Amino acid sequence: MALYVYKFGGTSVGSIERIKAVAERVKKVREAGDDLVVVLSAMSGETNRLIGLAKEMQAEPNERELDAMISTGEQVTVALLSMRLNEIGCPACSYTGTQVRILTDSSFTKARIKEIDDTRIRTDLTEGKVVVVAGFQGVDEDGNITTLGRGGSDTTAVALAAALKADECHIYTDVDGVYTTDPRVEPKARRLDRITFEEMLEMASLGSKVLQIRSVEFAGKYNVALRVLSSFAEGNGTLITYEESQMESALISGIAFNRDEAKLTITGVPDLPGIAYKILGPIADANIEVDMIVQNIAADATTDFTFTVHRNDFLRAKTILDAICADLGARKVSADNNIVKVSIVGVGMRSHAGIASTMFKTLANEGINIQMIATSEIKISVVVDEKYLELAVRSLHSAFGLEQA
Ligand code: ADP
Ligand code: ASP
Ligand code: MG
Repeated sequence: MALYVYKFGGTSVGSIERIKAVAERVKKVREAGDDLVVVLSAMSGETNRLIGLAKEMQAEPNERELDAMISTGEQVTVALLSMRLNEIGCPACSYTGTQVRILTDSSFTKARIKEIDDTRIRTDLTEGKVVVVAGFQGVDEDGNITTLGRGGSDTTAVALAAALKADECHIYTDVDGVYTTDPRVEPKARRLDRITFEEMLEMASLGSKVLQIRSVEFAGKYNVALRVLSSFAEGNGTLITYEESQMESALISGIAFNRDEAKLTITGVPDLPGIAYKILGPIADANIEVDMIVQNIAADATTDFTFTVHRNDFLRAKTILDAICADLGARKVSADNNIVKVSIVGVGMRSHAGIASTMFKTLANEGINIQMIATSEIKISVVVDEKYLELAVRSLHSAFGLEQA
């Protein structure tokens, strides 16, 4: 007898019919004799709808109140699934994050899980019940409801699997696994049977939202066997594993992209020690995360400094940078929020030269100008104009031979 944690995402519980289908699947697993903890997202679109309501009340909603409200989407789906399971003769009980006691820190809207009390879950499992837990949420030391960041139900599932030492954690979604790139952008994308944690972490952090990055971190840290599968079709999905891919010839495993970035440049900055700190210090003080950074020296002993931030922080960052520009007597600030970051990822890159030049040549052949470049051992990222996103992804996908056979 095994213990599984199954997580179903928004589209998988997007209607009454879909929730009924999830109940049938769950019942089958129970009837086969395995124990099951089910984690659910809110119905698709619900979290966005709730955030929209909040913004009508307060331009920048109070984060404590926001969390209290946006956590309700999941409360609805878990209760509905539990009702249905009981209706079809499969004993079940639903819990919110607070009821389980998924203890988090108090960083509203992006809380981190500190501890999970598994007592109630264990008792229910022993009594033969399916336990249905609301994803995306927890509670802090003071009893405030917190949420774990967008896509956070993945993390709830993996954290529960780790706490319960489950045999496997299955993430059921609207695609049948992890693909070489988002199949919505490149229909020729190929499903991967396996991907390493290291690669999945890069893919997630570079914008592939099929798994929330924290869920992958958690699974890697606590050795959770993690699989991504379709809730609509049968199949083995994609296993996230420690082993390197059998196909050693695959230099690149996937292409990720991120539409959420924006670029800021300050030109004609006096080239003196401490300049990077003077520019990025105030940005960090405003709690704005910086992603890519490039500094260039001009002939006249001044420097140009470019960095990217999340699009949500774009206007705030621009205001801060305008003030810094005046302060430092720099030439000017230019800002562009119509950029995207496209990245190629693969552990095979480590042992092969020439990957970067293939990437740059491919983009050049398509007439795509590269605005920024960043590399690490297993990834190369470029910033390009947003209008080239699809073209860049598809041409790189083909250049690295990632299409379906
Ligand atoms: P859920 O609501 O089930 O959590 P998400 O929308 O969060 O689903 O994640 C699934 C989506 O992730 C897919 O529909 C797909 O468009 C997108 N996606 C992005 N990159 C990839 C990738 N490399 N492989 C598979 N899906 C991807
Ligand atoms: N409902 C939340 C969101 O839309 C959490 C999740 O689906 O994982 O971000
Ligand atoms: Mg998701």
